[in-house]
Amino acid sequence: MLSSLPEGLCLYCKTPQHRVFLCAGCKVSYYCSRVHQRADKPDHEAQCVRTRNARNKMRREKVRLLREDPNVFEMSMGVFWGDHDTRPYMQARARYIEDLSQLKTQEAVEAALELAFENLELSKNDNMGTRDLIPALLIRVGRDQEAYNFIKWWQTNGRNGATTYLDLPDQDVFEDMTMNDGLRLGGSLDFQSALVLLKYRLAEDLFALKHNFAEGAEDRDELLDAIEEDLGPSPVINNQALLRDFEEGRDIQPYISATGNQLDVMFDAVQRRNRHFWAALVDSDGDLDSLPEWFAPGNELEVTATLWQSGYAAWEETPGALDFIRGMLNSSAP
Ligand SMILES: [Zn+2]
Ligand SMILES: [Zn+2]
Repeated sequence: MLSSLPEGLCLYCKTPQHRVFLCAGCKVSYYCSRVHQRADKPDHEAQCVRTRNARNKMRREKVRLLREDPNVFEMSMGVFWGDHDTRPYMQARARYIEDLSQLKTQEAVEAALELAFENLELSKNDNMGTRDLIPALLIRVGRDQEAYNFIKWWQTNGRNGATTYLDLPDQDVFEDMTMNDGLRLGGSLDFQSALVLLKYRLAEDLFALKHNFAEGAEDRDELLDAIEEDLGPSPVINNQALLRDFEEGRDIQPYISATGNQLDVMFDAVQRRNRHFWAALVDSDGDLDSLPEWFAPGNELEVTATLWQSGYAAWEETPGALDFIRGMLNSSAP
């Protein structure tokens, strides 16, 4: 599914302007003209200032850390946070990621992702839980396949003490993620929410493939180009059996039905895990109080922690996704 975030669009009028004016504050928002930058100021300023301050704070903490320990990046690479001196810097990084995540541009989300992946290099055990933010961020910029690979690595190799790091390419997003009425790739509520959203997006891409494309395209390259133009880098392009069925004119409805059945089970599994989650997702307008310092599995603070930052944004930015959940809640209501 294509990302619905503007990339290189004027943040105010949303027209493609090839990044004429970059906002000097946050450095991740573009405008077509100074006039539109001024016009957007009331909406943009507060978050822009927060983001700039968070970036400056991160830089100051880095300078301070290097002053105390000039070789820290060589000596403590991979075990940051375990080394106490690094904690103020890691906390400043987390804060900057948080502020970037709340800016709704592709550039902001990509910048947040870059920092988040660096955090995992700095702290391989991920003591701060940065991994929980990454799938939703990837989904927001249409990198669904990577989001699935990422969750799968943490829930399989990551748990088994793998010696290589985040190295599972092209995992099968179509595979049945349900098991014993639960989610096979469990993990945090963030991961589970992202898995359901990935399946929803896959179902939508399959539906578009069935209805918007002429079956039996001339050749594979032509088909892949057409799909990519319409759906972005969708995981459907990695399913060879599906592409063959499609090319040979067979109905792809079985793929759609299978994905839909999995979605039903996954919805229920998340509902059982935390009965507040779906209701809060569709009721929230994205205005969450603040990130809770502490939560217990199953309680309402766990929901806030998950929806905070990109957890809500990824759903909101996927067309039809919140309505889908509303429909599921209505049909499961007693
Ligand atoms: Zn404009
Ligand atoms: Zn800005």
